Amino acid sequence: MFRLDAMQYLSAGMQAEAEGLDIIGVMHSHPLTSAVPSDHDTTTATGHLISATWHWVIVSLAGPVPVVRSYRRGGPGLVEEPLRLVEHRP
Ligand SMILES: [Zn+2]
Repeated sequence: MFRLDAMQYLSAGMQAEAEGLDIIGVMHSHPLTSAVPSDHDTTTATGHLISATWHWVIVSLAGPVPVVRSYRRGGPGLVEEPLRLVEHRP
């Protein structure tokens, strides 16, 4: 379980704005479980502090290969959205 600290969120928003960026979502890991939103994730993601347009990315490290899935608000909870990972090598 993770928690989105209000002051850190505010600070990140101000920093992003100063750099001309937008926060479009959050990402966190599930070290021991699948990349499916927990009840806590759903409650947090659908709360009034979180933008309805945010992507909610979860990385599962439970298996031999990491699994990444993304969700957005839909109906009363979160619905999975297509995710395309692109490798970037500078
Ligand atoms: Zn989670």
